[in-house]
Amino acid sequence: MTDLTRLTLAAARDGLAKKDFTSGELTGAYVSAIEAASTLNTYITVTADKAREMARASDERIAKGDAGALEGIPLGIKDLFCTKDVLTTAASHILDGFVPPYESSVTQNLWNDGAVMLGKLNNDEFAMGSSNETSFYGPVINPWRRKGSDSKLVPGGSSGGSSSAVAARLCLGATATDTGGSIRQPASFTGTVGIKPTYGRCSRWGVVAFASSLDQAGPITRDVRDAAILLRSMAGYDEKDSTSVDRAVPDYEASLGQSVKGLRVGIPKEYRVEGMPSEIEALWARGIDWLKAAGAEIVEVSLPHTKYALPSYYIIAPAEASSNLARYDGVRYGLRVAGKDITDLYERTRAEGFGAEVRRRVLIGTYVLSAGYYDAYYVKAQQVRALIARDFTQAFEKVDVLLTPTAPSAAFGIGEKTADPLSMYLNDVFTVPVNLAGLPGISIPAGLSGEGLPLGLQLIGRAFDEETLFRAAHAIEQAADFTAEPEAWWRA
Ligand code: GLN
Repeated sequence: MTDLTRLTLAAARDGLAKKDFTSGELTGAYVSAIEAASTLNTYITVTADKAREMARASDERIAKGDAGALEGIPLGIKDLFCTKDVLTTAASHILDGFVPPYESSVTQNLWNDGAVMLGKLNNDEFAMGSSNETSFYGPVINPWRRKGSDSKLVPGGSSGGSSSAVAARLCLGATATDTGGSIRQPASFTGTVGIKPTYGRCSRWGVVAFASSLDQAGPITRDVRDAAILLRSMAGYDEKDSTSVDRAVPDYEASLGQSVKGLRVGIPKEYRVEGMPSEIEALWARGIDWLKAAGAEIVEVSLPHTKYALPSYYIIAPAEASSNLARYDGVRYGLRVAGKDITDLYERTRAEGFGAEVRRRVLIGTYVLSAGYYDAYYVKAQQVRALIARDFTQAFEKVDVLLTPTAPSAAFGIGEKTADPLSMYLNDVFTVPVNLAGLPGISIPAGLSGEGLPLGLQLIGRAFDEETLFRAAHAIEQAADFTAEPEAWWRA
């Protein structure tokens, strides 16, 4: 039998339906691949026994002709999604030993469709980061390396476990979350596809909260079709999340292959940022040419408040985080460090349980929400956010979708940016505005850097118009014909 981990999710789905192989065999192949790839540090918890049990149940349903949309498909789950009876850490020391008594709605949707859980994927602590280096469980390693070099690179963040595992074929697809870029930037760094759907498309219930007005779940996969399949199962209205939206979930896969002729593609001129590497410029220009050749109309547009997106994000996100993280007090969840009284217990637990980046966010967030500064920082940032959203609304009067690079660079080295939080934050310059406006964005691998590393292009769409994103993303995927793969140096 050929190596089952080489299949895409769609091919595996079709192979299972045709009974070419069983979910037990497919799942077994992934469990072995995960065991041989511990160097990459992608999984915090591997649930091999549970996976085999779920695969057995899937095979029975397939035999009975009772298969769901993801029947027997082995997936990795970012460790930010609560999974019933399975350790859930958010990659933080403060959630030591936390085993949720409930399942997140998104993962429940996947299991209802027959998917198999391989385990919980590493990420930046509480999803705060762009490199997966803030995880209490150590950094995730990107399977890609620079040409002629064996130095270790970051897989992007915060969904670096998800992106690395998909790229290294350690799951057929993965769940991820995106607050400021954490699905799209890691996808760009690993040659994978990642879509952050419209805010409200996926339920946030049971997903460990970072910044509630920005957090959205989405998939990371090998290709656009797989992303369409996985998002359809993840998405949907949930009465347990008051911000989830009650709208039917379309069959995203049906959008693939539809022509982009006449599609109006906007090129925001403010995304041509100073100091952008020429190879990113060139990639963007190629993307424009591909869509033009496929019959799309290219229109230059302006998003004048773009330069205020990062500064307002780094007020709003920490503000919401400081409030969300107040619940970790050493009493209700996870780690508890004893103290001489209750205040001392809180302080010791939080000092020991949170890493440096999380503490930085809590400090910033508490500061911008404090009396006297609230109006100057938090309220101002919310006003700017409204202007950023309005920029997009106005642009979408003229165009149907926007095309930009996903990130300003290819993957960088482990430790290269850890000393300078500002340069780390700049990774999200092209992704953050999309979260502030609540819009959908997808990253598609589009080429290789001079050093042989993957680079992604981003498409941004109107609210709840993921279908147009999938259609245009598929056109880019066809034109880019990105077939490069990392060498399997990590295999034990
Ligand atoms: N890198 C950004 C941050 O650190 C975004 C993270 C995310 O999307 N979860 O906040």
